[in-house]
Amino acid sequence: MEGRRAIGWAARDTSGLLSPYSFNLRKTGPEDVVLKVLYCGIDHTDLHQMRNEIPSTIYPLVPGHEVVGEIAELGSEVKIFRVGDKVGVGCIIGSCGECSSCKSNKENYCTNKIFTVNGTYQDGTPTHGGFSSAMVVHQKFVVRIPEKLAPEQVAPLLCAGVTAYSPLKQFFNGSNKVLRVGILGLGGVGHLGVIIAKAMGHHVSVISSSGNKKEEALEYLGADSFLVSSDSAEMEAAAGSLDYILDTVPALHNIQACLSLLKIEGRLVIVGASPQPLQFIASDLIVGKKTIGGSFIGSMEETEELLEFWAEKGLTTMIEVAKMDYVNKAFERMERNDVRYRFVLDVAGSKLE
Ligand code: NAP
Ligand code: ZN
Repeated sequence: MEGRRAIGWAARDTSGLLSPYSFNLRKTGPEDVVLKVLYCGIDHTDLHQMRNEIPSTIYPLVPGHEVVGEIAELGSEVKIFRVGDKVGVGCIIGSCGECSSCKSNKENYCTNKIFTVNGTYQDGTPTHGGFSSAMVVHQKFVVRIPEKLAPEQVAPLLCAGVTAYSPLKQFFNGSNKVLRVGILGLGGVGHLGVIIAKAMGHHVSVISSSGNKKEEALEYLGADSFLVSSDSAEMEAAAGSLDYILDTVPALHNIQACLSLLKIEGRLVIVGASPQPLQFIASDLIVGKKTIGGSFIGSMEETEELLEFWAEKGLTTMIEVAKMDYVNKAFERMERNDVRYRFVLDVAGSKLE
């Protein structure tokens, strides 16, 4: 039997354009909660998926994996939440529960995880994200939002924020020493990377494709230095100065130039999903004993931790709130690098139903 009706906005083909779409939610199970969606962040991954740049997209695709909602209904076995609670849902809404990743609270690396968008639920229904009036989610993949935090502020933390938090926490590993980190690409993920690394007490250099964001990065986000990646004199002067770099760029770019910024044994962690292959010169990696790695979002535990960290430190995301009928324009502006630094859709305020 199918569940209640929801109204979302979906992409139908590789043009990626979104338009209204109505569908049935899956039936609410005993451990599920039904959310009324309040806000949803717009992530570059949504755009990759809408256009089938990260194969393979199943259309119609309802994007949105930075979902803030209010619990509207509880399954019979749900004890930890109440109707009316404000909660968040990120990139994944299911995992096997049995593998070593799941057993060590790293369900984001489970090979049988279920994605919030463009996945298939155990009952065979396609998963649809938060560009929608409502969602049904298993309680294990729902995080409680600390009361102190404004719901629209939380949306970007649920994917972009935890994507930066998880590797940064590993880099710094509680170090008392001030480490030097570079954030490559100052967009949704990147701006949160700057805020988090600074709040953890470290030295942050932004490495950006132009000088346009310099003032904001230094004055509002609190970065310590700003490098323009195409300025070879600036890049050369900073060679060998960084312990870590978090690479958030969503397109083909020169990672070789970034590798030269790293100290001996420095580490470049890639989270930006360039659809084209990236290149580097092996000997530069070898002689500097440098490492290139990747990182995928964060665990549910890390997401909860980040929300607590955010509330405790009194941090603020830089967002632009828009209604759903602005969504295509918002993606266009995100692609043009014309948002500071994350769009958040006011889903409930868009009166989809
Ligand atoms: P975004 O808001 O569009 O920001 C990306 C930033 O990268 C831009 O603001 C820009 O910063 C820079 N940039 C864009 N195009 C560039 C180009 N052609 N060359 C050099 N720099 C460029 O994107 P986002 O939402 O932060 O997402 C970033 C990437 O991370 C996407 O690929 C997304 O799929 C991926 N992602 C991965 C995970 C994960 O778990 N690994 C999670 C979330 C997102 P400047 O103006 O400073 O150059
Ligand atoms: Zn698993």
